Amino acid sequence: MAWECGIDGCGSVFEDVESAIAHQADAHERRECEICGTVVPDGFLAIYHTFTNHSRAEYVRAYDADSAAIRTREKLLDDVTSAIDQEVLAEMLGSS
Ligand SMILES: [Zn+2]
Ligand SMILES: [Zn+2]
Repeated sequence: MAWECGIDGCGSVFEDVESAIAHQADAHERRECEICGTVVPDGFLAIYHTFTNHSRAEYVRAYDADSAAIRTREKLLDDVTSAIDQEVLAEMLGSS
């Protein structure tokens, strides 16, 4: 499966999710979580942070999201967490 970086129409494609996440952390600005203020890399890790640390209701309030936006992100999160090496993921989150 190919992983495409969707930040600001970047469109870079990677063969594995670890490379895509490393790219997003390196090449793009970090963002502050609108809910708790933690600074996280944009893209997959930002979604991972939001959906594992906060409730759907908090997400909707902070980001003015609709249910379609939530479904899209939940699907992406599923794909990422099933594909990624958990140790890599932990390391990426720990280094932020
Ligand atoms: Zn990118
Ligand atoms: Zn947060």
